Amino acid sequence: MIIRKLFRFESAHILRGAQDVRCRESIHGHSYKVELLLASNRFKEGQLVLDFTHVKEMIELFIDAFDHSIALWKDDRAEFIEAMKKFSSRWVILGVNPSAEQFARVIFWFARRALAQEREISVYSVIVHETESGYAQAFLEDVNNESMGAIRAEDFAFSREILDNNDSIRRFADISGAA
Ligand SMILES: [Zn+2]
Repeated sequence: MIIRKLFRFESAHILRGAQDVRCRESIHGHSYKVELLLASNRFKEGQLVLDFTHVKEMIELFIDAFDHSIALWKDDRAEFIEAMKKFSSRWVILGVNPSAEQFARVIFWFARRALAQEREISVYSVIVHETESGYAQAFLEDVNNESMGAIRAEDFAFSREILDNNDSIRRFADISGAA
């Protein structure tokens, strides 16, 4: 059986390498929708795969770190990253380009760690809708595919505003093993 939990966040980026000049050269935003799909062949107490409230607790604080933030790629120009850090109080640095594809991989990567204690449950897939018409869907093989870019806890960085406004980072550090 598959259960699905939907999350939303609003975030800005520049998508380096995109074909569309508007995407690759101008800061713009999207209202992202994230579908987290969990698989299980067994019910827990209450004849549930997993309580949605628990799923929300484990995952939402991480996704919320991205809300109203600018998502930056660590390999973007240092000058650009510095300017964004200076003028936006909410920013997140990722080890990979902030495309829908990479958000799907990163959220999968995190969810897998966050739900690792849950026996009999696996993260089946993560779908990230960037627009009404376009989405990216990641599976475990994509998360483990380093040719798509390695996802490493130490590559993430979060602004002070994000660190101070929720406990995402403590949770992120606990779960991902980052210092
Ligand atoms: Zn975009």
